[in-house]
Amino acid sequence: MDAEKHALLRKLPGVDYVIDLWEKSPPSENIPRPVVVQSIRAALDALRQQILGSTEPVDTTLFSDEVLLRLTRAQVEKRLAFNLTRVVNATGVSVALHVARMSSRYSNLEFDLEKGARGSRYSVVEDILCEISGAEAALVVNNNAGAVFLALETLAKGKAVIVSRGELVEIGGSFRIPDVMARSGARLVEVGTTNRTHPADYENAISTDTALLLKVHTSNYSIVGFTSDVSLSEMVALGAKFHLPVMKDLGSGSFVDFSKYGLIKEPTVQETVHAGVDVVTFSGDKMLGGPQAGIIVGKKQFVDPIKKNPLNRALRIDKMTLAALEATLRLYRDEARALSEVPTLRMLTMPIKTILTKARRLQNRLKKLGNARVQVDLLNGSSRVGGGSLPLQQLPTKCLGIRIEGLSANRLEALLRKASPPVIARIEEDVVVLDLRTVLEDEIAVIADTFKKILAES
Ligand SMILES: *Cc1c(COP(=O)(O)O)cnc(C)c1O
Repeated sequence: MDAEKHALLRKLPGVDYVIDLWEKSPPSENIPRPVVVQSIRAALDALRQQILGSTEPVDTTLFSDEVLLRLTRAQVEKRLAFNLTRVVNATGVSVALHVARMSSRYSNLEFDLEKGARGSRYSVVEDILCEISGAEAALVVNNNAGAVFLALETLAKGKAVIVSRGELVEIGGSFRIPDVMARSGARLVEVGTTNRTHPADYENAISTDTALLLKVHTSNYSIVGFTSDVSLSEMVALGAKFHLPVMKDLGSGSFVDFSKYGLIKEPTVQETVHAGVDVVTFSGDKMLGGPQAGIIVGKKQFVDPIKKNPLNRALRIDKMTLAALEATLRLYRDEARALSEVPTLRMLTMPIKTILTKARRLQNRLKKLGNARVQVDLLNGSSRVGGGSLPLQQLPTKCLGIRIEGLSANRLEALLRKASPPVIARIEEDVVVLDLRTVLEDEIAVIADTFKKILAES
């Protein structure tokens, strides 16, 4: 077998051969030559790997001229595509990650970006933040990791910060509370246990060295069972008693009380401010559904020194982001409007009837392809919220389970993912499942076309 493979590898055409092929039928678009050469190398490399990895006999038809050109074209497309392409999210995991962070990021940009000096634009966003949250002062930086770091560096450098052991979270992308704290120069004092922390634990740990009491939202996990947690108001009371500021890292903060819409209760930004917390930090691009940003709101006495920290400049956001954040925040002045226009919120609160309509529409379009290899079943499912929020929340949803004769579920999932634009699905019990909650109306046709292509090519 190995000898056969090596004989076949020797027959694999060289780069020059494929360049000639390419130049005989060049695409209408002018592709830079280095891109073509790189793409051909990658295509040949992929074929080499395919030959070496194959468990079945292969022959030279594997690299016919037609295949060589098709593989090269695919590589060229990949190289010319922007890194942040549009993605059809059919995973049901809400836009907290996908849509908000990628496609809809700048969609509300109805602003004259050149107008208004930096200072005034910042203050507009800060004013709206105070208005919505009820805080005295506000500040925005490039993400919430930056917000937490900057606040700790300002308020607790060289001093002790007390945190419950149940709240020493790690967020994806290497954000860990103990590590960020170490970098800020603050000293972490852990109190309580993983499942239970009491006010007395904080009280016993307070010393002349203590600069801050910190509470961290356990964004992506939940401690259940025999648990006890110190409430925000108990923390605020402790802070008042010992003249120490209290800070809360909300993670994916929201201005909307989701329990009104049948979801699990999460403390809102307003409630946290109202409870008397001195400094509150949260992300602009998780539940809020805005651009990547970190937001700090709180009492002037503590937020002003954070603004004056020279590191602030290193963490500042650019004016495009600021404009997008302003547009998003304006929507929150009217909750009904925010629910219908912020994609994250729209998807979280989408009525099951709307999801069902989309599922039926896609099912019909797939039936209309008239291909007997396709089997489509309408399924009840459950969406996850994602984006490091509401880890226990399950949302009832409608899905399509799709099988194509001759393609395994793994293969079909991979073909969808590699399509242009990529369609991201999941596999459940060996069936490819598309969750229609996160699929936008105009993406139904895109998905149907993708299936049509896949059926024609494999
Ligand atoms: C997500 C998260 C962060 C980091 O926020 P980014 O905006 O992604 O930098 C910090 N703390 C908590 C609790 C989080 O959930």
